[in-house]
Amino acid sequence: MIDPATASTQESPGRAPSDAVVLFDGKDLSRWVHKDGTAAKWKVENGYAEVVAKTGYINTRDSFGDCQLHVEFAETVPPQGESQERGNSGVFLMGLYEIQVLDSYENKTYADGQASAVYGQYPPLVNASRPPGQWQTYDIVFHGPRFDPEGKLLRPARVTVLHNGVLVQDNAELSGPTAHGQRPPYKAQPDKLPLALQDHGNPVRYRNIWIRELK
Ligand code: MG
Repeated sequence: MIDPATASTQESPGRAPSDAVVLFDGKDLSRWVHKDGTAAKWKVENGYAEVVAKTGYINTRDSFGDCQLHVEFAETVPPQGESQERGNSGVFLMGLYEIQVLDSYENKTYADGQASAVYGQYPPLVNASRPPGQWQTYDIVFHGPRFDPEGKLLRPARVTVLHNGVLVQDNAELSGPTAHGQRPPYKAQPDKLPLALQDHGNPVRYRNIWIRELK
């Protein structure tokens, strides 16, 4: 029996349930490192972490596979840049499969590059973006790919995403890892890998990140 965060689901619908691993609680990024293993250099203040350009992606120290993931982010006010240069970041499931983070409020870009797109593969079903400055939520259910002992793909990855509570990816079947302008095939990989957040050079803010492993 888990505590489904009963305190007030109306006031804090994204509150971590008791069986979640809290990856970022607004205080520190101790569960995150850069690719070279050094401590995360993103700025932490006022209960959020902010991308510091050119410090690089941050990855969880722990590895995860099939999961339910909750992430909150906020875009820069006033908006800076256009299209893919406005508030770009990303949630990389297993470090390989990107759910795009972008300021998609009155910001045109290509369809499968919008906020909550499976980047380069699936546009969101609708644009559920809030204006910059407001906190937004992603609730993600992810099932990673499976391979046989020879490395042959048995089952592709699948992802369901709610953006601000609105269904935007409905059990989408991924064609392979995320890439820009191409669809690379799957390559055999472990069942668990670190989760990553993207440094795309824009000061996107994050808070309240938690994950539940699906057995
Ligand atoms: Mg991105």
